[in-house]
Amino acid sequence: ATQDIKVLLLENVNQTGREILSQQGYQVEYLKSSLPEDQLIEKIRDVHVIGIRSKTKLTARVLKEAKNLIVIGCFCIGTNQVDLQYAADNGIAVFNSPFSNSRSVAELVIGEIIMLARQLGDRSNEMHNGTWNKVSNGCWEIRGKTLGIIGYGHIGAQLSVLAEAMGMSVIYFDVLNIMSLGTARQVETLEELLGQADYITCHVPEIPETKGMIGQTQFEQMKTGSYLINASRGTVVDIPALIDAMRSGKVAGAALDVYPNEPAGNGDYFNNELNTWGADLRSLKNLILTPHIGGSTDEAQKAIGVEVAQALVRYVNEGSTLGAVNLPEVTLRSLTMDEPNHARVIYIHKNIPGVLRKVNEIIGDHNVDKQMTDSRGDVAYLMADISNVDTATIKDLYTSFESLPSRIMTRILY
Ligand code: NAD
Repeated sequence: ATQDIKVLLLENVNQTGREILSQQGYQVEYLKSSLPEDQLIEKIRDVHVIGIRSKTKLTARVLKEAKNLIVIGCFCIGTNQVDLQYAADNGIAVFNSPFSNSRSVAELVIGEIIMLARQLGDRSNEMHNGTWNKVSNGCWEIRGKTLGIIGYGHIGAQLSVLAEAMGMSVIYFDVLNIMSLGTARQVETLEELLGQADYITCHVPEIPETKGMIGQTQFEQMKTGSYLINASRGTVVDIPALIDAMRSGKVAGAALDVYPNEPAGNGDYFNNELNTWGADLRSLKNLILTPHIGGSTDEAQKAIGVEVAQALVRYVNEGSTLGAVNLPEVTLRSLTMDEPNHARVIYIHKNIPGVLRKVNEIIGDHNVDKQMTDSRGDVAYLMADISNVDTATIKDLYTSFESLPSRIMTRILY
């Protein structure tokens, strides 16, 4: 029953998320901070659901103590604070919120395009230092200029619409064929984009193929006097190559929101000895540097609260793993389990040969309305809706599933 579900929310996750979970009737404990490991272990023993942000480390050592835990909600984008493999191997689903801040990032980039075109960062710095330096040379309107978007996903597509509304013409490059929005036009190659765009902005994921994707060769392919924006991941742009391109005047301005070796907390950054180029970056003109704030808005935080809490509710109440980062994505459309004498079996198991035969021996005598199974690495997730079952049968089913050697976790929802 929903009132038996115990939820622990740490790190002051957004109230929107807390409300959604409380409305379900779950017992929600809400803490503003993270917990030291010993206290975390003490608390996690009890709970079925835990919600965290980036400070709480859910290591194998901690998760081993979490005997009742079925799901982890990361109310943020990243999930490397969680041992995802250990969680999967123990049937604990992990959810995050990768796309709730797309609009915030797109708006930041729009702002930066105009800032670069008008050298606003430099003028503002000069005034802060007391200097009146009225300049029009090298300053432009953005109307009629070409924006080249690399990666036309959630952020790239939002940006496309906003940029056209301001009179820019938009081209984009993506590894997938994606339907353009408005009058934007997809180009075949990155080189083609670099050769045509006045403003170039990166919105690709961090994967081996995108590491150093914008390096010396790509800067050479750009128009002289073009602008580069990177608010994707720090590995995408080769920083020493960018420094060279800016010094030579090939690139007239750039904005960076992401960097290699980003620090865990606020404070000193450029004195990190890994970032040997720190002093060079700081000395460049018309270079906007921001500390990974692309998605940092109130609206994005609220959207994260809603998205993650809804995923947790769907997982707890219906077993749906859509959007899970460490388990196969499995869901069944209609919820026949709401009807009397219906039950939904969820069997998380090791992905080894012969399991489905055993499973079908157990449920084969019942009326199986729907069934779906999928695997991801060593772990498989099976969901089956069964009708004409009473409470005694449900108990039997549970015991039979739990006694299979392939078992990781069994849940029966009814
Ligand atoms: P997305 O997955 O929706 O879109 C990425 C797009 O890039 C996809 O269309 C994909 O096909 C394309 N792509 C993949 N590999 C490519 C390649 N080699 N060449 C060209 N295109 C390629 O992602 P998104 O939500 O739009 O996010 C884009 C990036 O922004 C991610 O790196 C994400 O981590 C980052 N991000 C940064 C911030 C911030 O605060 N600065 C906030 C959110 C997201």
